[in-house]
Amino acid sequence: MEFLQLLAALPFATPLALRELRGLAESLPSTEPMPVLFLGHGSPMNAIEDNAFTRGFRTIAGTLPAPAAVLCVSAHWETPGSFVTAMPQPRTIHDFGGFPPALYQVQYPAPGAPAVAEEMRGMLGASTLGLDTSWGLDHGCWSVLIHMFPDATVPVLQLSLDYTASPEAHYALARRLAPLRRKGILIVGSGNMVHNLRRVAWDRLGEAGFGFDWAVEAGEWMKAAIRARDHAALQRYATQSEAVKLAVPTPEHFLPLLYTLALQEEGEEAALFNDEYVAGALTMTSLRIGPKSGG
Ligand code: ZN
Repeated sequence: MEFLQLLAALPFATPLALRELRGLAESLPSTEPMPVLFLGHGSPMNAIEDNAFTRGFRTIAGTLPAPAAVLCVSAHWETPGSFVTAMPQPRTIHDFGGFPPALYQVQYPAPGAPAVAEEMRGMLGASTLGLDTSWGLDHGCWSVLIHMFPDATVPVLQLSLDYTASPEAHYALARRLAPLRRKGILIVGSGNMVHNLRRVAWDRLGEAGFGFDWAVEAGEWMKAAIRARDHAALQRYATQSEAVKLAVPTPEHFLPLLYTLALQEEGEEAALFNDEYVAGALTMTSLRIGPKSGG
Protein backbone atom coordinates (compact mmCIF):
# COMPACT_ATOMS: atom_id res chain seq x y z
CA MET A 1 0.00 0.00 0.00
CA GLU A 2 2.87 2.32 0.74
CA PHE A 3 3.86 2.28 -2.96
CA LEU A 4 0.39 3.24 -4.12
CA GLN A 5 0.10 5.96 -1.49
CA LEU A 6 3.37 7.39 -2.77
CA LEU A 7 2.06 7.28 -6.32
CA ALA A 8 -1.15 9.01 -5.34
CA ALA A 9 0.95 11.96 -4.18
CA LEU A 10 2.68 12.33 -7.52
CA PRO A 11 1.35 14.78 -10.09
CA PHE A 12 1.26 12.24 -12.93
CA ALA A 13 -0.85 9.74 -11.01
CA THR A 14 -3.96 10.15 -13.10
CA PRO A 15 -6.56 7.40 -12.57
CA LEU A 16 -5.29 5.59 -15.68
CA ALA A 17 -1.65 5.76 -14.57
CA LEU A 18 -2.61 4.51 -11.13
CA ARG A 19 -4.42 1.54 -12.54
CA GLU A 20 -1.46 0.64 -14.72
CA LEU A 21 0.94 1.13 -11.85
CA ARG A 22 -1.01 -1.23 -9.68
CA GLY A 23 0.02 -3.83 -12.21
CA LEU A 24 3.66 -2.90 -11.75
CA ALA A 25 3.25 -2.95 -7.99
CA GLU A 26 1.86 -6.45 -8.19
CA SER A 27 4.33 -7.84 -10.70
CA LEU A 28 7.45 -6.69 -8.82
CA PRO A 29 7.86 -6.54 -5.05
CA SER A 30 8.63 -3.19 -3.42
CA THR A 31 12.25 -2.62 -2.49
CA GLU A 32 14.47 -0.03 -0.92
CA PRO A 33 15.39 2.61 -3.53
CA MET A 34 17.81 1.04 -6.01
CA PRO A 35 20.94 3.15 -6.60
CA VAL A 36 21.13 4.98 -9.93
CA LEU A 37 24.22 5.09 -12.14
CA PHE A 38 25.76 7.23 -14.82
CA LEU A 39 28.48 5.33 -16.66
CA GLY A 40 31.08 6.88 -18.92
CA HIS A 41 31.27 4.12 -21.54
CA GLY A 42 34.10 5.47 -23.72
CA SER A 43 35.47 3.29 -26.49
CA PRO A 44 33.50 0.19 -27.53
CA MET A 45 36.78 -1.70 -26.97
CA ASN A 46 36.10 -1.45 -23.24
CA ALA A 47 33.62 -4.28 -23.83
CA ILE A 48 36.43 -6.77 -24.43
CA GLU A 49 39.26 -5.17 -22.47
CA ASP A 50 40.28 -5.59 -18.87
CA ASN A 51 41.38 -2.15 -17.71
CA ALA A 52 40.92 0.28 -14.83
CA PHE A 53 37.54 1.41 -16.19
CA THR A 54 36.08 -2.06 -16.70
CA ARG A 55 37.28 -2.99 -13.23
CA GLY A 56 35.46 0.14 -12.01
CA PHE A 57 32.23 -1.15 -13.62
CA ARG A 58 32.69 -4.54 -11.93
CA THR A 59 33.42 -2.98 -8.56
CA ILE A 60 30.37 -0.73 -8.65
CA ALA A 61 28.15 -3.68 -9.62
CA GLY A 62 29.34 -5.38 -6.43
CA THR A 63 27.86 -2.54 -4.35
CA LEU A 64 24.33 -2.98 -5.75
CA PRO A 65 21.41 -5.06 -4.54
CA ALA A 66 20.46 -7.66 -7.17
CA PRO A 67 18.24 -5.78 -9.65
CA ALA A 68 14.95 -7.11 -10.98
CA ALA A 69 15.82 -5.47 -14.33
CA VAL A 70 18.11 -2.82 -15.79
CA LEU A 71 16.75 0.22 -17.63
CA CYS A 72 19.53 1.75 -19.71
CA VAL A 73 19.41 5.25 -21.23
CA SER A 74 22.13 5.05 -23.87
CA ALA A 75 23.67 7.89 -25.86
CA HIS A 76 23.43 5.66 -28.92
CA TRP A 77 19.66 5.49 -29.38
CA GLU A 78 18.02 8.74 -30.48
CA THR A 79 14.44 8.83 -31.73
CA PRO A 80 11.65 11.36 -32.37
CA GLY A 81 9.74 10.88 -29.11
CA SER A 82 10.67 8.47 -26.30
CA PHE A 83 10.57 4.71 -26.74
CA VAL A 84 11.30 1.73 -24.53
CA THR A 85 12.37 -1.65 -25.87
CA ALA A 86 9.57 -4.16 -25.42
CA MET A 87 10.83 -7.34 -27.09
CA PRO A 88 11.35 -10.55 -25.09
CA GLN A 89 14.86 -11.10 -26.47
CA PRO A 90 16.69 -7.93 -27.55
CA ARG A 91 19.45 -8.39 -30.12
CA THR A 92 23.01 -7.23 -29.55
CA ILE A 93 23.63 -4.25 -31.87
CA HIS A 94 27.19 -3.62 -33.08
CA ASP A 95 26.65 0.07 -33.80
CA PHE A 96 30.23 1.10 -34.65
CA GLY A 97 32.75 0.70 -37.44
CA GLY A 98 36.42 -0.11 -37.84
CA PHE A 99 37.00 -2.27 -34.79
CA PRO A 100 38.59 -5.74 -34.56
CA PRO A 101 36.42 -8.77 -35.48
CA ALA A 102 36.42 -9.96 -31.88
CA LEU A 103 34.27 -6.99 -30.90
CA TYR A 104 31.64 -7.86 -33.53
CA GLN A 105 31.43 -11.40 -32.22
CA VAL A 106 30.37 -10.28 -28.77
CA GLN A 107 26.80 -11.17 -27.89
CA TYR A 108 25.01 -9.99 -24.76
CA PRO A 109 21.96 -12.27 -24.65
CA ALA A 110 20.13 -10.71 -21.69
CA PRO A 111 16.37 -11.15 -21.90
CA GLY A 112 14.07 -8.17 -22.30
CA ALA A 113 11.24 -7.29 -19.94
CA PRO A 114 8.12 -6.62 -22.04
CA ALA A 115 5.84 -6.51 -19.00
CA VAL A 116 7.96 -3.76 -17.42
CA ALA A 117 7.93 -1.85 -20.72
CA GLU A 118 4.12 -2.06 -20.77
CA GLU A 119 3.94 -0.86 -17.19
CA MET A 120 6.26 2.04 -17.97
CA ARG A 121 4.01 3.07 -20.81
CA GLY A 122 1.06 2.94 -18.45
CA MET A 123 2.97 5.03 -15.94
CA LEU A 124 4.04 7.75 -18.39
CA GLY A 125 1.12 7.57 -20.79
CA ALA A 126 1.01 6.15 -24.31
CA SER A 127 1.45 9.61 -25.83
CA THR A 128 4.73 10.07 -23.91
CA LEU A 129 6.30 6.63 -24.24
CA GLY A 130 6.11 4.29 -27.22
CA LEU A 131 6.91 0.58 -27.22
CA ASP A 132 9.71 -0.48 -29.56
CA THR A 133 10.24 -3.95 -30.95
CA SER A 134 13.01 -3.23 -33.49
CA TRP A 135 15.99 -1.82 -31.55
CA GLY A 136 17.75 -4.04 -29.03
CA LEU A 137 20.86 -3.38 -26.95
CA ASP A 138 23.41 -0.96 -28.44
CA HIS A 139 27.02 -0.74 -27.32
CA GLY A 140 26.29 2.13 -24.93
CA CYS A 141 24.35 -0.48 -22.99
CA TRP A 142 26.01 -3.87 -23.49
CA SER A 143 29.65 -2.71 -23.42
CA VAL A 144 29.21 -1.77 -19.75
CA LEU A 145 26.63 -4.35 -18.64
CA ILE A 146 28.88 -7.16 -19.89
CA HIS A 147 31.24 -6.24 -17.04
CA MET A 148 28.58 -5.58 -14.43
CA PHE A 149 26.38 -8.60 -15.11
CA PRO A 150 28.57 -10.95 -17.17
CA ASP A 151 26.16 -13.89 -17.13
CA ALA A 152 23.49 -11.73 -18.88
CA THR A 153 20.62 -13.14 -16.81
CA VAL A 154 19.24 -9.81 -15.54
CA PRO A 155 16.54 -8.54 -17.97
CA VAL A 156 17.49 -5.31 -19.77
CA LEU A 157 15.35 -2.56 -21.32
CA GLN A 158 16.57 0.50 -23.17
CA LEU A 159 14.94 3.92 -23.11
CA SER A 160 15.64 6.11 -26.14
CA LEU A 161 16.62 9.78 -26.15
CA ASP A 162 13.97 11.98 -27.76
CA TYR A 163 16.01 14.25 -30.03
CA THR A 164 13.16 16.77 -30.20
CA ALA A 165 13.17 17.36 -26.42
CA SER A 166 15.00 20.07 -24.44
CA PRO A 167 17.40 19.16 -21.63
CA GLU A 168 14.75 20.36 -19.18
CA ALA A 169 12.18 18.03 -20.74
CA HIS A 170 14.59 15.08 -20.48
CA TYR A 171 15.17 15.89 -16.81
CA ALA A 172 11.44 16.15 -16.15
CA LEU A 173 10.76 12.84 -17.89
CA ALA A 174 13.48 11.14 -15.86
CA ARG A 175 11.93 12.32 -12.59
CA ARG A 176 8.78 10.44 -13.53
CA LEU A 177 10.77 7.21 -13.62
CA ALA A 178 11.47 7.49 -9.87
CA PRO A 179 8.92 4.82 -8.79
CA LEU A 180 10.89 2.22 -10.76
CA ARG A 181 13.73 2.53 -8.25
CA ARG A 182 11.43 1.12 -5.59
CA LYS A 183 10.56 -1.82 -7.79
CA GLY A 184 14.15 -3.07 -7.90
CA ILE A 185 14.92 -1.59 -11.30
CA LEU A 186 18.45 -0.33 -11.83
CA ILE A 187 18.43 2.82 -13.98
CA VAL A 188 21.70 3.43 -15.83
CA GLY A 189 22.54 6.50 -17.92
CA SER A 190 25.34 5.62 -20.33
CA GLY A 191 27.27 8.37 -22.13
CA ASN A 192 30.32 10.51 -21.49
CA MET A 193 30.22 13.86 -19.70
CA VAL A 194 33.03 15.30 -21.85
CA HIS A 195 32.84 13.84 -25.37
CA ASN A 196 34.27 15.57 -28.43
CA LEU A 197 35.44 12.95 -30.94
CA ARG A 198 36.63 15.61 -33.40
CA ARG A 199 39.14 16.85 -30.83
CA VAL A 200 40.37 13.48 -29.57
CA ALA A 201 44.18 13.21 -29.47
CA TRP A 202 44.35 9.70 -30.93
CA ASP A 203 48.14 9.67 -30.53
CA ARG A 204 47.79 10.17 -26.77
CA LEU A 205 45.16 7.49 -26.12
CA GLY A 206 47.46 5.50 -23.90
CA GLU A 207 48.48 8.47 -21.78
CA ALA A 208 46.61 8.21 -18.49
CA GLY A 209 44.66 11.24 -17.39
CA PHE A 210 45.41 13.59 -20.28
CA GLY A 211 42.78 16.28 -20.86
CA PHE A 212 43.00 19.44 -22.94
CA ASP A 213 42.60 22.65 -20.93
CA TRP A 214 39.01 23.16 -22.12
CA ALA A 215 38.12 19.54 -21.33
CA VAL A 216 39.48 19.87 -17.80
CA GLU A 217 37.69 23.21 -17.29
CA ALA A 218 34.40 21.67 -18.45
CA GLY A 219 34.86 18.40 -16.60
CA GLU A 220 35.70 20.11 -13.31
CA TRP A 221 32.74 22.49 -13.74
CA MET A 222 30.40 19.54 -14.27
CA LYS A 223 31.69 17.74 -11.19
CA ALA A 224 31.38 20.89 -9.07
CA ALA A 225 27.76 21.29 -10.23
CA ILE A 226 27.06 17.63 -9.41
CA ARG A 227 28.56 18.04 -5.93
CA ALA A 228 26.54 21.25 -5.39
CA ARG A 229 23.40 19.51 -6.72
CA ASP A 230 23.05 22.40 -9.18
CA HIS A 231 21.08 20.37 -11.68
CA ALA A 232 19.55 23.53 -13.17
CA ALA A 233 23.00 24.73 -14.28
CA LEU A 234 23.71 21.33 -15.84
CA GLN A 235 20.45 21.48 -17.80
CA ARG A 236 21.65 24.86 -19.14
CA TYR A 237 25.00 23.38 -20.19
CA ALA A 238 24.67 24.82 -23.70
CA THR A 239 24.98 28.40 -22.46
CA GLN A 240 27.64 27.95 -19.75
CA SER A 241 31.04 28.56 -21.31
CA GLU A 242 33.14 27.98 -24.40
CA ALA A 243 34.79 25.08 -22.59
CA VAL A 244 31.47 23.34 -21.95
CA LYS A 245 30.38 23.97 -25.54
CA LEU A 246 33.53 22.19 -26.71
CA ALA A 247 32.97 19.36 -24.22
CA VAL A 248 29.35 18.83 -25.31
CA PRO A 249 29.30 19.56 -29.06
CA THR A 250 26.20 17.37 -29.45
CA PRO A 251 23.80 16.50 -26.63
CA GLU A 252 23.48 12.71 -26.82
CA HIS A 253 26.43 11.67 -24.63
CA PHE A 254 25.58 14.30 -21.99
CA LEU A 255 21.81 13.83 -21.69
CA PRO A 256 22.02 10.40 -19.98
CA LEU A 257 23.72 12.23 -17.08
CA LEU A 258 20.57 14.35 -16.65
CA TYR A 259 18.45 11.17 -16.40
CA THR A 260 20.68 9.92 -13.59
CA LEU A 261 20.79 13.22 -11.69
CA ALA A 262 17.02 13.73 -11.96
CA LEU A 263 16.58 10.61 -9.84
CA GLN A 264 18.72 11.86 -6.94
CA GLU A 265 16.56 12.10 -3.85
CA GLU A 266 17.00 14.28 -0.79
CA GLY A 267 19.90 13.06 1.33
CA GLU A 268 21.34 10.76 -1.33
CA GLU A 269 24.99 11.09 -2.18
CA ALA A 270 26.54 11.19 -5.63
CA ALA A 271 29.84 9.32 -5.59
CA LEU A 272 32.23 9.60 -8.54
CA PHE A 273 34.30 6.72 -9.89
CA ASN A 274 36.33 6.09 -13.06
CA ASP A 275 36.99 9.82 -12.82
CA GLU A 276 39.61 10.18 -15.59
CA TYR A 277 40.33 12.28 -18.67
CA VAL A 278 41.13 10.24 -21.77
CA ALA A 279 42.81 11.29 -25.01
CA GLY A 280 42.38 14.97 -24.31
CA ALA A 281 38.70 15.27 -25.20
CA LEU A 282 36.82 12.56 -23.25
CA THR A 283 36.03 11.79 -19.64
CA MET A 284 35.12 8.40 -18.25
CA THR A 285 33.78 10.06 -15.09
CA SER A 286 30.95 7.94 -13.70
CA LEU A 287 28.49 8.40 -10.90
CA ARG A 288 26.69 6.28 -8.34
CA ILE A 289 23.72 7.90 -6.65
CA GLY A 290 22.20 6.23 -3.66
CA PRO A 291 21.75 6.20 0.09
CA LYS A 292 24.96 6.91 2.00
CA SER A 293 27.13 4.05 3.25
CA GLY A 294 27.06 2.01 0.08
CA GLY A 295 23.52 0.64 0.38
ZN1 ZN B 1 29.30 6.46 -27.00
